[in-house]
Order: sequence, then C-alpha cells, then structure tokens
Amino acid sequence: MYAKKNQKVVVLATGGTIAGTATHASDHTGYTAGQLNVQQLLDAIPALSDALQGDALVCEQVVQLDSKDMDHATWQTLAQRCAHWLSQSDVRGIVITHGTDTLEETAWFLQMMLGPTKPVVLTCAMRPATALMPDGPQNLLDAITVARDAMVHGVLAVCAGRIHGARDVQKVHPYRLDAFSSGDAGPRGWVEQGRVRWADLGGWPMVHANAQQAFDRPVAQWPWVAVLHSHTNADPRQVHALVAAGVQGIVLAGTGNGTVHHSLLAALIQAQAQGVAVRLTTRCGEGQIVGQSADLQTAPLGLSVYKARISLMLTLMTSSLS
Ligand code: ASP
Repeated sequence: MYAKKNQKVVVLATGGTIAGTATHASDHTGYTAGQLNVQQLLDAIPALSDALQGDALVCEQVVQLDSKDMDHATWQTLAQRCAHWLSQSDVRGIVITHGTDTLEETAWFLQMMLGPTKPVVLTCAMRPATALMPDGPQNLLDAITVARDAMVHGVLAVCAGRIHGARDVQKVHPYRLDAFSSGDAGPRGWVEQGRVRWADLGGWPMVHANAQQAFDRPVAQWPWVAVLHSHTNADPRQVHALVAAGVQGIVLAGTGNGTVHHSLLAALIQAQAQGVAVRLTTRCGEGQIVGQSADLQTAPLGLSVYKARISLMLTLMTSSLS
C-alpha cells in the first residue's frame, strides 16, 4: 500500500506506570503512576526519529492518572481528542499511553466510540520509568511503529512486542512484562526490530508459480531437497554426502534466530558455491527469523523447515522435463 510521506503521528498521554517513578531503580511495585509528562516519555527514546521516517510527532497530555482510577469523564475527553486528531487529513495515526489496569476497557470504549479507519494504538508499561530496565520506551517506540503501518486501522494495544485487537485484549498477569493476552484469538501481530509482522497475511497468493510443473512432471524427476538441522557438534559430512549424491536443495533448521554451527555453515556455503540452493529456517517452534543472515538466504514467510522444503522443491522445478 502507498504510504504518504511527512504525515503526523499524535501521542496522547494519560499517565499509568509508563509515566511512573519509584525511589529505587529495583522497585517495580512501590512507585507512583503518572509522574512524567509526555515529552519526558518521548525524550527517553533515542531511536525515535528513525522510527518516524520524516513524520512529525505531536503530543498532548490529556490527563495524568493511575488507570485504576479511570472514569467516564476522562473517557469522554480522550474520545474527543482522538476524534479531533483523526479528522485531520495529515494525521496518520494516534498513540495513547495508558496504565495497564484498565487499558482493555479504554481500548474497547474507543473502538466503539470512534470505529477509526486510522490506527489508534494504546501502549503501556509494567515497570516504572525509573526501573533498571524500563519497558515503557520500547513499548512506546513499538506503538509508534504500529501507528505508522499502512495496514492498520482500528484500536489496537501494543505491549511486549505483541499487537492485540481491542476486542480480545486482556490483562492476564499482574507483574510480568508480557502481561496481555488475546486469548484464543491470539495476537494480531508482532513488532520485531522496528518492523511489524502481521499474523494474517491477507492477500498473499497461496499458489506457487511453478505449481503446474508439479502436475505434469513425473515425481521421480522432482528436485531433491533435503532437510538438515543444526545442533551441538553438527557434522559437516552430512552436507558433503548430500552434495556428492546430487542433492539440489537443502533446507536447514538453524538454532535460535537462524544461527548455524560453524562446521555446518562452512559446508553449506561450499555447497551453495557448487550450485545447491540452501534456505535457512529456525528450530524454534514459534516466531520466525528476524533479519537476514549474511551467508544463507532465509526461507520465505517464516515457514517451518518441512514446509520450506516443499516451497524450495517447487521453486527448483523448471519447465524442461530433464
Ligand atoms: N496501576 C497502573 C495503571 O494502570 C498499572 C500500570 O500502568 O501498569 O495506571
């Protein structure tokens, strides 16, 4: 989707732990919510201008409270401020900083009041701004990233790298950083390294460009793509053996974020140089590789090693029946 340049993102602040302060950095519970103003929250994010990519930031302190004390008068004011900003053509989206205790209620109220066609993204923190490792700055940065995403409309909540919809979001834990859940619905997406990954790929075409080849070609002539795993003491001889036997593709389930045991990596780079197509996935059962390895191409769409094998096999099919 075409994203207009030099728009505005509006940050409306309402207080909460994200703006809270404690006397001691180790204190995550004995703090006072709603102490720092919106400008102080934004000043705590060094990477902000990178995330804005030329957009301007407008901020407003709507109220300053602990969200356990949220009331209808504040809701009305907040809805009015949102409506005001959403009606401006150069406003891309709104971020609202809010306490975690009643965030889910405010999210639903605003969704019902505004039905916004632009993003309205609530965010929060589980630790006060004075903590050794506060979570507020990252959450606020992630929320701004989501508010700038051209795919988004409606009211969302962003916490601990997860994006929740207004209907499903719920605070499920009184202490941990990842305190919110969307229950059975699951998160709408994730923010990773400043990029949004949506759970629903929407219009992605689910037919491979070479599908017809697999209808026509005898299966004995389908490309041979093998699956390998990286693990402790991984042995490069398995790669050498596969290459010697004529393998055409290898899909590797790497450790963690697509890391590969050094002995296996050297053999795979050598295999690539000999014309074998190599794709990288992760052994981790959830999430997908973030970023690109310098040496190996990541399999598309966050596919598992077994599904990536199928896609690579189809990709390696050519029209000539050899
Ligand atoms: N009591 C705080 C609030 O809801 C809790 C928080 O923000 O995490 O404002």
